[in-house]
Amino acid sequence: MRIVLLGAPGSGKGTQAYRLQKEMGLPQISTGDLLREAVTAGSTLGLQAKKLMDLGELVSDDIVLGIIEDRVCAADTTDGYVLDGFPRNLGQAKSLDNLLTRLGQKLDATILMNVDFELLIKRLTGRRTCSKTGKLLNIYFSPKEELEACIKAGGELRQRADDNEDTIRNRLLIYERETQPLIKYYGDRNILQIVDAKGSMDDVYIGVREALDNPLL
Ligand code: AMP
Repeated sequence: MRIVLLGAPGSGKGTQAYRLQKEMGLPQISTGDLLREAVTAGSTLGLQAKKLMDLGELVSDDIVLGIIEDRVCAADTTDGYVLDGFPRNLGQAKSLDNLLTRLGQKLDATILMNVDFELLIKRLTGRRTCSKTGKLLNIYFSPKEELEACIKAGGELRQRADDNEDTIRNRLLIYERETQPLIKYYGDRNILQIVDAKGSMDDVYIGVREALDNPLL
């Protein structure tokens, strides 16, 4: 299955894509993760991307499309994949359509992760990663024991560079302006399913699986 997860920053796309990867064996393709890898590697592309990512702006379509094209053609994608954070504007959505047509493939599902604004802000400002285990945590929502376990194991609760309040506000504005039009784009083509994404990870996963088990087409 080829799946697009749509949703604002903090809507839980990454968490659900990771779970789909684990349970359905579909590789998670996150443009945000791929760009962060390029930043860490210090490549020219990474350096270009970093300035925009730190401001919460979108990285240019050319860069992102190059990354996506390489990734969806890799050997592990024959049974499909979960796109997490791509496409993020109409141009990218149309380029994805063209790429899939060229490859003789189609999207099977597009899922919108629906969460209200206030909760998004809390999820994003509270988001931390344990430097020791890589576990994704949240200072507002994770059990105290899990937060303490990271520290006790000698880890630090690290915040992503773009999870500060100014950048978050900009990322949400950009989501509204650039990404929200994709709801109509995929809705008009009858492949958009909306999942209530405000609950626990497990509840949201049940919603996602229900949507995938009941395709619209
Ligand atoms: P994410 O991890 O999905 O929240 O993405 C982090 C940042 O990476 C975004 O704020 C953008 O700067 C950049 N980014 C990720 N995916 C895309 C994309 N499809 N198009 C443009 N920029 C992207």
